[in-house]
Amino acid sequence: MKSIIISTGDELLTGSTLDTNTNWIASRLTELDVELICCFTVGDDRDKLLWAIKQATEKAQLVIITGGLGPTDDDLTRFVLAELANSELIEDTHSLTVIENFFRLRNRQMIERNRIQAMIPAGADALDNPVGTAPGIKISIGQATVFALPGVPSEMKRMFDLYVAKWIAQRQPAKIYRKKIHCIGIGESNLVSRLEPIVKKFPQIRFGTTAKGGVITINLAYDKLEAIDAFTSDITGELGDIVLGFDDDTLSSVIGKLLKRRKQSLVTTESCTGGLIAKTITDTAGASEYFAGGFVCYSNELKQKLLGVPEKTLIEHGTVSEQTAEAMAKGAINATNANWSIATTGIAGPTGGTKEKPVGLVYIAIANDSDLVDVQKFLFGNLGRDTVRERATIAALNFLRKYLLDN
Ligand code: AMP
Ligand code: MG
Repeated sequence: MKSIIISTGDELLTGSTLDTNTNWIASRLTELDVELICCFTVGDDRDKLLWAIKQATEKAQLVIITGGLGPTDDDLTRFVLAELANSELIEDTHSLTVIENFFRLRNRQMIERNRIQAMIPAGADALDNPVGTAPGIKISIGQATVFALPGVPSEMKRMFDLYVAKWIAQRQPAKIYRKKIHCIGIGESNLVSRLEPIVKKFPQIRFGTTAKGGVITINLAYDKLEAIDAFTSDITGELGDIVLGFDDDTLSSVIGKLLKRRKQSLVTTESCTGGLIAKTITDTAGASEYFAGGFVCYSNELKQKLLGVPEKTLIEHGTVSEQTAEAMAKGAINATNANWSIATTGIAGPTGGTKEKPVGLVYIAIANDSDLVDVQKFLFGNLGRDTVRERATIAALNFLRKYLLDN
């Protein structure tokens, strides 16, 4: 089955609203194994909307429209659908009652204009909106089934799952199993060539990779779960600790699981990452179980006062040095009851680099309460401040992860 998404609204074309609906629907269609041929974004303009829906219904069996179902003059979707289906708009009594009740329950006056939202092309189905006023519309145009959903993202998502996903499921009998394997500390091309022999062993399984935020994700899809499990176990055997986790796992949640399993805690002390490591750790709900907290020690004064970094170390080796990173990590352990610490000191740029210490140089130290200290030097290059800080954060968490796996 082929599909096309149409999002409508002038605000999407002027750049004032980001079209998140298309992105969300595209990922749901992928999960549901429906091919998406293309997406249209159209303003609140009758002729252009007519053109886009006509094109879409000629090319795809499933067309999903979002937006333009409201009561104002720029909401044109229902009128264009009626025109293309050669039918009249008629008032749907059930939808009107639902809209009236919506206003009554909220003690709000329903104005006459809101009646437009109950107007549905003859022969189409009105789709109840459990979270708003405008019902959706399901209509056949030519060989295509068209679902028109409200533009408000929360309403659109609920209604997609209630109506569109259900409609798709009835037409896609074979269940497709999916697995995501997240990998870290390896480049995408390197990973793919290492996996080539395994991929050849399972030609029937759909295999693809995507890269985001330093993590390479292997996406597998097939209608036999045993084959996916066998493939996954071959991959994890080959890659070892390069495998970060599966499906919903993230670097942050994996660190959390490992610390919880060991009943241990973490403290961070950050200079160049400015708190990004602490932010990433606390992206996972329940992080208070294992995250003691973090120091953001930008100045040398604070590094000395809060972490006890010796003045001599800072003068002799510099703020950005292996010795300072080590002293920061040890200092954080001494200053708290945490079992593990991560420290960063580096030059995020774009200014402040020298020949000896270029932009992108970051020292990351790990320490624990059993006197372990380890420092790694990274050269991320002059990739821009945000990228250097993101890479340093990922490298730091991955550095810790390896210790939590091994010790
Ligand atoms: P509409 O249903 O066209 O009246 O849209 C209602 C509101 O939903 C708009 O004012 C936008 O804030 C939002 N909206 C509409 N379409 C989209 C979209 N494609 N992505 C994100 N938000 C949207
Ligand atoms: Mg609109």
